[in-house]
Amino acid sequence: MKVLKFGGTSVANAQNIEKVKNIVANSSKNEKAVVVVSAFGGVTDMLIKASLLAASQNESYKNVLEEIEDKHLKTIQELIDINNQSKVISNVKRELNVLETLLEGAFLIGETTPKLLDKIVGYGELLSSYIINEYFIKEDIDSVHKNSKLLIKTDDSFGKAVIDFKATNELCENYFGTVTYQVIVAPGFVASSAKGEATTLGRGGSDYTAAIIAAAVNTETLEIWTDVSGMYTANPKLVKQAFAIPHISYEEAMELSHFGAKVLYPPTIQPVLSKGISIHIKNTFAPEEEGTLITKSSNGKARAVRGISHVENISLLSLEGSGMVGIHGISKRFFEVLSEAKVSVVFITQASSEHSICIGVASDDAEKAKSALEKAFEYEMTLKKINPVMVENDLAIIALVGDNMKSHQGLSGRMFSALGKNNVNIRAIAQGASERNISAVINKNDVKKALNTLHEQFFEDNVKQLNLFVMGVGNVGEKFLAQIEQQRKFLKKQLKLNIRVVALSNSKKMVFDENGLDLKNWKELLNNGEKTGLDAFYQKVKELNLRNSIFVDNTANEAVAKTYENYLNDSISVVTCNKIAASSPYKNYLKLKELSRQYNAPFLFETNVGAGLPIIDTLKHLIASGDKITKIQAVLSGSLNFVFNNFNDKTDFHEVVKQAQDEGYTEPDPKIDLSGIDVMRKILILARESGNELDIEQIENEAFLPQESLDTSNVDDFYKSLVKNKAHFDTIYKEAANKDCRLKYVAQFENGKAKVGLQHVPQGHPFYNLEGKDNIVLFFTERYSEQPLLIKGAGAGADVTASGIFADIIRIGNF
Ligand code: ADP
Ligand code: ASP
Ligand code: MG
Repeated sequence: MKVLKFGGTSVANAQNIEKVKNIVANSSKNEKAVVVVSAFGGVTDMLIKASLLAASQNESYKNVLEEIEDKHLKTIQELIDINNQSKVISNVKRELNVLETLLEGAFLIGETTPKLLDKIVGYGELLSSYIINEYFIKEDIDSVHKNSKLLIKTDDSFGKAVIDFKATNELCENYFGTVTYQVIVAPGFVASSAKGEATTLGRGGSDYTAAIIAAAVNTETLEIWTDVSGMYTANPKLVKQAFAIPHISYEEAMELSHFGAKVLYPPTIQPVLSKGISIHIKNTFAPEEEGTLITKSSNGKARAVRGISHVENISLLSLEGSGMVGIHGISKRFFEVLSEAKVSVVFITQASSEHSICIGVASDDAEKAKSALEKAFEYEMTLKKINPVMVENDLAIIALVGDNMKSHQGLSGRMFSALGKNNVNIRAIAQGASERNISAVINKNDVKKALNTLHEQFFEDNVKQLNLFVMGVGNVGEKFLAQIEQQRKFLKKQLKLNIRVVALSNSKKMVFDENGLDLKNWKELLNNGEKTGLDAFYQKVKELNLRNSIFVDNTANEAVAKTYENYLNDSISVVTCNKIAASSPYKNYLKLKELSRQYNAPFLFETNVGAGLPIIDTLKHLIASGDKITKIQAVLSGSLNFVFNNFNDKTDFHEVVKQAQDEGYTEPDPKIDLSGIDVMRKILILARESGNELDIEQIENEAFLPQESLDTSNVDDFYKSLVKNKAHFDTIYKEAANKDCRLKYVAQFENGKAKVGLQHVPQGHPFYNLEGKDNIVLFFTERYSEQPLLIKGAGAGADVTASGIFADIIRIGNF
C-alpha cells in the first residue's frame, strides 16, 4: 500500500484534478493507494473568511458561501458528465446546506468558537475528497471514499488538535487491513475527538494526515504531491535561483519546514521518522521531475548548508534587568508562563551575563506573551529589578539549515558578513546546539534581500548578481550600456558576475525592472518610463532593497553628485565618472569616503582622471602596499593636449580650439578646459587619493589665457577674445619653439602643493611625444624613485570612459 497526498493547488480545478487522476491511476496499478486530498485551492481561506464575517454579523458571509458553492459546482460540471452529475451535485448541495446552517448560527450569535470553526473549515476537505472520489469512479478507478474523521482521533484542542496515536493506529490498521478497493480517497486536515466532535490538524495539516496514515499502515514511502518540484534551497517564490534539493535528511527537512518552508507541514515528519518511511515530495504539474527525497540520512558529500528558510511576522520580546542575574529559576518561570499562555516560542537567545532573555514569537502571540510575562514578573517589576517587557514588531527569522554545518568552520562568519555587506540589520542570533541551524532575526522588509544574498553566498557557486541603477544615458551612458550588453554572458561564465541593469534614468524619465531591463531596447523602455527625479529615483532603489546594489552616475551634474551620500548610507555602492563629488570641498570628499567604509559600500571614480586608464586604482595599490608618493606629474587634459599638438605657426589658436570642440574633445564650453579648471580637479583628486588634504583653492593655476578671455561670460565672446588675442598665443608658441620645446599643459603635485599650467617640454621628456588626446601620469614614489611609474593612453572619449566605469563595477563584483 502507498500513500499519496495532493495539496490545494494540485486539486484547485478540474484540469488539475485530471492530472491527479493520471498520477493515481498510474500509481495504483500494482499496489493499493491511499489518496489524501486538501480542500480545493483557496477554499479553506474562504471558509475562515466566511466564519469571521458571520461572527461579526456581516451578511457578506453569504457572498463568500456562494463563491464556495460556485467553485465546487463548476468543478463537478467539468469533471463529471451530465448524466452522472445530478447525484453528486445534490449530495454536495446537501452538505453546503448544513454548512450554511452552521454559518447562520455564527451570524445569529455573533461569535464563532474554535469548536464551531473546526466544524466549518473541515468542509473544504470533505467536499473535495467526495467529488474527487466520484470522478475517479467515473474514470474506472476502483475507488472508495473514506472520511478521515473516522480514522484519526485527537484530543479536543480545536484548531490544532493533538493526535491520539493509539486509537488512530488501531482504527487505521482495522480499516486499511480489510479494505478491498484499490484506491481509497480520504480528506486531509480533518479528524475527530474522542466524543466524535470535528477537529482539525492545523493549517497545512493535510500533509500530517497522510503521514499519520502512512505510519499506521507502515508503507515504504509517503508521496507529497504539490505545486513545486520538491523542497527547495529557499522559497522559490522569493528566490528565483533556488533549486530543488534532491535528497535531504528528516532533521534537515524538519528544521527547514519549522522555519517556514511551507511545502511540508512541520509535524508531518514525526510519525514517519520513527518508522523509517521516506517522504518523496513531487510536483503534480511536472511529475517527470525528480523531486525531493527525505530519509534518515542524506548524502554525506552534500553542501554544508542544505537550505535557507524564513518565517515572517515575528516579534521579539526581551526581559531584562539587574534582578535576573544569578537568580535560579527565572528562565523556568519565564518559559512556564509562556507555555501556560499557549505561546509557542520560535527563537531563544540569552545573554551570557544572564542579564536578559530574548525570545521570538509569532506576532499574533506577542501581546498575549507580553501581558502574561508582565503579570508573572509584576513583583520584580515594581521593585525595578526587572524592566517592563520590550516588544519589537515587524521582524522575520531567516535560518541556514544543514546536517553537516557543524563540521564546517566559518559558516556563520560568511552568513553575517554577506548580510552586513548588504545592510541587513541583524537583531538577534541563535545557533541550535545541534549546529544544524543558524538563525537570525532581521527586519521583515529585508527578507527577500537577505534570502537572495545568502542563497548567492551558499548555493550559486559564487555567481554574484550585481544590480545596477544607472543615471545618465548620454554619450558615456549609451556606450556603457552597449558594453554591458555585449559582455554579460562572458562575465557570467568567466568572472561569475551576473550584471543586471535594474534602473535607468535620464533627466526626464526613469524606468525600473526588478528582473533586469532588456538592454536591447532600453531606449524604448526609458521613453515609456515614468517621470524621474533624484529623490524619486533614490526612493525606488531603496524600496527595491536588492542585494549588491550599485548606483552608477554617468552625468556631470552637481545635484546628482549630492545624492551619493544617501546611497552610501544605505550600503549601496557608487560608481561615477562625474568629478564633482571627488573634487568638492575636502570635508565632503572625506565624508563620502568614510560612509563608504562604514557601510561597506565601495565609492569608485576611476574615470575621474584619465577616463579608462587605471590611474586611481594603481595609486591605491601603491599606497596599500606601503609605498609613498613623492611627486605626481601629469598631462591630464585630452582637450588641451589636442589643442597644443595642433597649434603651430601655421595655424590660428582660435581655429584649433574650434576644431577641438567640433571633434568633441572639449566640454561644451571650451573655457572650462582652457582655463585649467578641469585639470585642477583631476590633480586635486590624485593628491587626495595619495593621502593629502587639499582643496581646489589651494592649487596654483598659471593661466595662459589672457585675463580678457577668462572674463568672458559666453562661448561666442570667448572665441572673439581668442581671435583678438592672436598675437598673445603666437608668442606663447614661438617662445617654446625657439627653445625646441613643445607646449604641454602639465599638472604637478609635490611637497603638499599642486599646480597646473602650460610648460615648455624639451625633447626626450616623456611628455614630449604625447599624441592626440592621450593622457600621461608619472608617479614618483619611494619605490619608483629614479624612474617614475608611467601610465599613458587615451584619456578621453566615451568608449574608454564607459569601459573605466565598467572596470569599477567589476572591481565591486570581486570585492
Ligand atoms: P500544498 O497546497 O500542495 O500543500 P503549499 O502551498 O502548502 O502546497 O506548499 C507549497 C509552497 O511552499 C510552494 O508553492 C512554495 O511557495 C512554498 N515554499 C516555501 N518555502 C519552500 C521551499 N523551501 N521549498 C519549496 N517550496 C517552498
Ligand atoms: N486545507 C488546509 C489548509 O489550507 C489543509 C491543507 O491544505 O493542508 O490549511
Ligand atoms: Mg501544504
